[in-house]
Amino acid sequence: MRIVLVGPPGAGKGTQATRLAEKLRIPHISMGDLFRANISQQTELGQLAKSYMDAGNLVPDEVTIAMAKDRLEQPDAKGGFLLDGFPRNVSQAQALDDLLQTEGIKLDAVLDLEVPEEEVIKRIAGRRICRKDSSHVFHVSYSPPKTEGVCDICGGELYQRDDDSEETVRKRLEVYHTQTEPIIDYYQAQGLVVTISSQGPVDEITQRVLEALKRDDA
Ligand code: AMP
Repeated sequence: MRIVLVGPPGAGKGTQATRLAEKLRIPHISMGDLFRANISQQTELGQLAKSYMDAGNLVPDEVTIAMAKDRLEQPDAKGGFLLDGFPRNVSQAQALDDLLQTEGIKLDAVLDLEVPEEEVIKRIAGRRICRKDSSHVFHVSYSPPKTEGVCDICGGELYQRDDDSEETVRKRLEVYHTQTEPIIDYYQAQGLVVTISSQGPVDEITQRVLEALKRDDA
């Protein structure tokens, strides 16, 4: 399957993407993780991306689209993929369509994870991520680790993302509404959008998505 995951920051895109990718046996491609990997390896791209990310803005299309293309051309993405955080504006969506068209393939679904705005702020303010594996995500009140600051799964150090401060989250939400939300209409016109409520236990949300994808398939 070829799936795009859309939703505001804190909608649980990363959490759901990790689980869905495993169940559907497709690679999870997270743009944010690709940028963060570049930041920790101190590449030139990482330096550039960090300045935009820390301000809550989108990294320029030119760099982002080139990075997404490069990743999608890797052999493991040939049989399907779950794109988390790309596209994030209409020109990226058009670039993705062009790429898929060249390869003669199509998206199967665009999953739109919905969550109320007050909930987003609470989720992000308490979010803590493992330095060793970004799919290990905790929350200081909703899913606290057994030992503060330490990942239950691998013992890695837990940290708060630089762009998870309340001020940056508000900016990221504004960017989401103005730049990313329009892609929902764009994909709606292609009949690809599946809207899922991202509230409730994580397992239930995954189940909801899998059911909706099955229905969508039929
Ligand atoms: P995420 O981990 O998906 O929340 O992404 C973190 C940050 O990375 C975003 O706030 C943007 O600054 C940047 N980013 C991720 N995906 C994209 C994209 N498709 N286009 C531009 N910037 C992006």
